[in-house]
Amino acid sequence: MTERCAIIWFRNDLRLHDHEVLTLLANSVDVLAPVYCLDPARFEIQPSGFPLTGPLRARFLIECLEDLRAGLEARGSGLHVVVGQPEQVLPALAQKLGAREIFAEREVLGEPLRVERRLAAALDPLGISLHGYRISTLTHPNDLPFPVANLPESFAQFQEAVTAGGEPRAALPPLQRLPGYPAGLSNPTLDTLVQVLGLSAGSEAGQPSGFEGGATVAVAKLEEFVQGRRASLESLRGSGSEAAAQADRFAPWLACGALSPRRIYQYVKYSGLTVWAGELANAVITGLQRRDFCRFLAMKRGERDEQSSRPPAWDDEGLRERFELWRQGETGEPFVDAHLRELAMTGHLSSFGRRLVASYLCHDLGLDWRWGAAWFASQLLDDDPSVNLANWMEATGRWRAFEEPGRLDPAEQAARRDPDGDYCRRWLDGNAPVIQRFG
Ligand SMILES: Cc1cc2nc3c(=O)[nH]c(=O)nc-3n(C[C@H](O)[C@H](O)[C@H](O)COP(=O)(O)OP(=O)(O)OC[C@H]3O[C@@H](n4cnc5c(N)ncnc54)[C@H](O)[C@@H]3O)c2cc1C
Repeated sequence: MTERCAIIWFRNDLRLHDHEVLTLLANSVDVLAPVYCLDPARFEIQPSGFPLTGPLRARFLIECLEDLRAGLEARGSGLHVVVGQPEQVLPALAQKLGAREIFAEREVLGEPLRVERRLAAALDPLGISLHGYRISTLTHPNDLPFPVANLPESFAQFQEAVTAGGEPRAALPPLQRLPGYPAGLSNPTLDTLVQVLGLSAGSEAGQPSGFEGGATVAVAKLEEFVQGRRASLESLRGSGSEAAAQADRFAPWLACGALSPRRIYQYVKYSGLTVWAGELANAVITGLQRRDFCRFLAMKRGERDEQSSRPPAWDDEGLRERFELWRQGETGEPFVDAHLRELAMTGHLSSFGRRLVASYLCHDLGLDWRWGAAWFASQLLDDDPSVNLANWMEATGRWRAFEEPGRLDPAEQAARRDPDGDYCRRWLDGNAPVIQRFG
């Protein structure tokens, strides 16, 4: 009997826990090739002056891949990381291995979606099938109380309907064993790939961000969040500081799929956290629902969103100069600059910080929001195209899905949120942003 061989192409689902398709494949194929494609173009400096994936997120991604590889090896498999465009490398690999099927998570927006289409077109004449799956949302699209085409365009309505629809699917238990890794398939070290791509794998890119990539760190962080940090969270909450609202910070792991939203939901809902910190638990669940909403909205709006989110060519030198001052945190508005420097140095920014700098770019500087969104996409550890797009559209005032206030007055916000100037001093004093590291 011939062996059934398949490829799983990892994208933004870099985990082994709560992974429906991996669990299915573990019991249904004889040989499985887990593959990740590193496309060099993503790390090159663009005409905008910065790469699509900046050095901070590149480092985070490499840590996630190392962790994934270690997890796969511990279960009798491996990770084939290949440099190239998926639509070019995957068909050749499938033919070499005799694999008739490729499984991959489906994306919802932009270039990742176009890559899927090109890959499907390249595989079709070879008789190789591309199977898509969706495991990145809390509520599975098939479990929504309405077809995606009828999704309400107000988050409040979406949340009400989804909450009334009942519990999301339960997270799956961790995998113990995986099918064999194809004989002769290389398992190149990431150090080699990092060098080939000219990436920085160390902490050279700015200050240590406090974020380490990988599902192992993410799951440990989740357990610590619900079990071990009760005292520290309570004291943060007592201080009423912004830090309390940011205390979980799961977004970077969620965005690359190193942490499952259902795993978070289950931990948060059934760990007792709702009892001693109900408000905090609800805020996390609401955050997960907001994230779902952005993804479903992108699925619903499809091409319309894609067209509007592509950055325009920017030939006006004056506008460009103003954008550069914003990007580098040199606008002269201290509260805005402090936040922009935090973003440039760490790859993270609180939700409020994002709204403030986005509002300043759109309403005070009068610049095109797509440039701001492109800088966020390059710099944020948690870049998620559909979430980034929906929140920027909200900041411009074109969408009112979240019913956020329009323009934020920086001086008024600084007086309210940073009355002693501690935050500004922390990020402005002698801190030049690190915004370009490799070219
Ligand atoms: C202009 C702008 C751009 C943004 N771009 C992104 C992006 O690219 N990727 C991203 O993950 N978030 C983005 N956000 C949303 C939000 O700021 C971050 O998700 C949040 O700050 C992450 O911090 P946390 O993990 O502590 O989230 P928490 O507040 O603890 O929430 C838990 C999770 O819910 C999700 N979430 C929270 N707030 C939102 C929101 N407003 N919209 C959608 N999902 C949300 C995140 O995945 C988050 O990890 C953006 C917000 C703005 C205003």
